Amino acid sequence: MEKQGVEKFEYKAEMKQLLQLIIHSLYTHPEVFLRELISNASDALNKVRYRQLTDDNVLDKGVELGIHISVDNAKQTFTIRDNGIGMTRDDLMNSIGTVARSGTLEFLKQMKEENRNPGDFIGQFGVGFYSVFMVADEVTIETRHADQGSRGYRWTSSGEGSYTVQEIDKSDRGTTISFRLKENAKEFAEEFKVKQVIKKYSNFADFPIFVGNEKINAVEALWRKSESEIRDDESNEFYKFITNDFEDPLARLCLSIEGAGSEFKALLFIPKRAPFELIRVRQHKTVQLYSKKIMIMDDCKELLPEYLQFVRGVVDTSDLPLNVSREVVQASPAMDKISSTLTTKIIQWLQRMAGKEPDLYLQFYKNFGPLFKTGLNTDFANRDKLVELLRFETSASKAGEMVSLKDYVGRMKESQKEIYYLSADSREHAEQNPNLEYFRKHEIEVLFLVEPIDIFIVPSIGEYEQKPLKSVDQADIQMVSGDAEKKEDDQLAKSFVDLCKETLKDRVEDVRLSKRLVDSAVTLVTGEQGMDRQMERMMKMMGQEVPKSRRILEINMEHPVMRNLSRRYIANPGDDMLKKCIVQLYESAQLIEGELSSRADYVKRMMEIMEEVTK
Ligand code: ADP
Repeated sequence: MEKQGVEKFEYKAEMKQLLQLIIHSLYTHPEVFLRELISNASDALNKVRYRQLTDDNVLDKGVELGIHISVDNAKQTFTIRDNGIGMTRDDLMNSIGTVARSGTLEFLKQMKEENRNPGDFIGQFGVGFYSVFMVADEVTIETRHADQGSRGYRWTSSGEGSYTVQEIDKSDRGTTISFRLKENAKEFAEEFKVKQVIKKYSNFADFPIFVGNEKINAVEALWRKSESEIRDDESNEFYKFITNDFEDPLARLCLSIEGAGSEFKALLFIPKRAPFELIRVRQHKTVQLYSKKIMIMDDCKELLPEYLQFVRGVVDTSDLPLNVSREVVQASPAMDKISSTLTTKIIQWLQRMAGKEPDLYLQFYKNFGPLFKTGLNTDFANRDKLVELLRFETSASKAGEMVSLKDYVGRMKESQKEIYYLSADSREHAEQNPNLEYFRKHEIEVLFLVEPIDIFIVPSIGEYEQKPLKSVDQADIQMVSGDAEKKEDDQLAKSFVDLCKETLKDRVEDVRLSKRLVDSAVTLVTGEQGMDRQMERMMKMMGQEVPKSRRILEINMEHPVMRNLSRRYIANPGDDMLKKCIVQLYESAQLIEGELSSRADYVKRMMEIMEEVTK
C-alpha cells in the first residue's frame, strides 16, 4: 500500500496562544498530565466497549481492555497505551489539533490574570491532552481506529507552532502516546511516583491500569456499594475523577432504587461551583449512564430535566438493554421512569439540605439558582415544591442573606395583603430605587429580584399563601399603611401637574402626585398594563420586539425642589425655567433607571440651569 509522507500542519492562532499559556503557567501541578491522559484512555475504552456490544465488526474484538504505562528511568521516557476506540486521521486533526470550545482561551487568560491556576481547570475545557506539554518537549501519538478498515497514523508535535501527521503500519487498534520527560519532570520516569499519582487521581477508572506488569487500581463500581460503605474521601476522589473538577463536591446523594417500576443505583453530586460551560454556554456535562456496570453514555442529559442538569455523577440501571443503539435507549419508557424518580429524589435532597444545612443550600443556590429557578416555568408537577425552595434577598435582609417566601410571609404585617418585589440588575440599584422609599418608611419588606431570570418566574409563582406578588412600581399598588390621603385636591398641585403634562407631552403616559415618594422629588412607575422594566430590558437583550411602553411620572410635592418650583409657578406660570426644570427632573428619573436617551442634552440643560442660578 502506498503511504503518504510526513505532512506538516500549522496550529491555528488561538491554539498557539493556548499552548503558550499551558506550557508557561501550568507547571504548578505537572502531575495533571497523567490524570488527563488516563481519563482520555478511559473514555476511548468506554467507547469501544459500548461499540463492541452492538457491532461485531470491530478490530481486535475480544481483547482485554486496559491501560498500560511503561517508564524508562534511564532514558527518561514515558509511554501510555490503550486499546480503546483509537483515532482516524480526521480525529487526529480535529480533536487534537483544535480548541473545541469557543471562549476557552479568553477564560483561561482571565483566570491567569486573577491569579487562579488555569491548570486546575484544564480538564474541563477539552484541551486536557495538551497538559502533556508541561512535562515533555515533544510528543508522539500512534493510533489506529477500531474500524476494521482503518489505518494507523503517527502524530508528532513539540507543542509550539505545528504538528505532523504520517501514515504508519499499526496492527492493533488503540492509542499509544510517548515522550521524553523534561528535566524538571523526570520524577515521572519513576514507577513509584506514577503509581502514587494514579492512586490519587485515577483510582476509579473503569479499566485496569498497569504500570509495568502490576495492576494498580481497584476497578470497583463505587456506586454499587451501600451508602454506609462509601467513605467521604473516596467518593470525593471519585467525583473529581469523573468530572475533572479539582475541588471536592458540595454535596452527595446515594440512591438505591428498587421496585416501583424501576431499578437503579446512583451516586450523585452537586459541584461547589458552576463549571465554565454552565456559565458560558450551557453545554455542560450531566450524569453518566451505566447499564450493569458498563457505561453507555458519558453524558446522558435525558436523565434529568434541564433545570436539574447541574447534577453530576453516575446512574447505573439494569432496566436498559445493552445491545441497542443510543437512540433506542434515549427513547425507552425505562428512561422516563428513571428520570422522574431521579427528579423527585433530587428535589427531596434539596429540601433536606435547605432545612438542615441552610448555609450549604445557599451556596448551592447562589451558584446554580439561575438554572434551577427555570424549573418553575417547566416542571408544573413540582411547582409547589420548587416555590418553597426559592430564596431572595430583601430590603430587610443584609446583602448576601436570603429568605424564603415562607419567611417573608411569616413576618408580614397583618394589614399587608400582597408580597412586594422590586426588580433591578443589582442589590445596589434596588436599594437606590426611589420607589422603595415608601416601603422603607413604613417598614414593609420588599423582595429584591436581581437575577435576570427572576422576573420571568414571577408569573409562575403568581401568589404564595393567597398573597399575590406585586411589583413596587406598579402604579395601582394598594397602599397598606393606612396613611392619610395626601392633599390631592390641592388646586396648586393640580395645576402644577398639568404644567408637567403639557411640558412632557407624550414622553410620559401620565403625571401623578406620588404617594410613595419620601426623599426623592420624582420617580417613574409602570402603568397598570405596562411591562416590568427588567422584563422589558431582558426581552430587548434577547432581540425580541417590545411594544414601546411609556411610564407614569410621579412627583413629590413635599420635596424642597418641588416646593420652590410651585412658588415660581405662582409668581409666573409662563416661566421658561420651570419647563426646563421639569424636563430635567424627568430625565433625572430616567437616568436613575438607566434609561436616559441623550446624555448630551441632559448635561447641556444642566449647564443652562446652573448658569441661571449662578448669575
Ligand atoms: P477532552 O478529552 O476533554 O475532549 P482532550 O484534549 O484531552 O480533550 O482530547 C481531545 C480529544 O482527542 C478527545 O475528545 C478524543 O476525541 C481524542 N483523544 C484523546 N486521547 C485519546 C485516546 N487515548 N484515544 C482516543 N481518542 C483520544
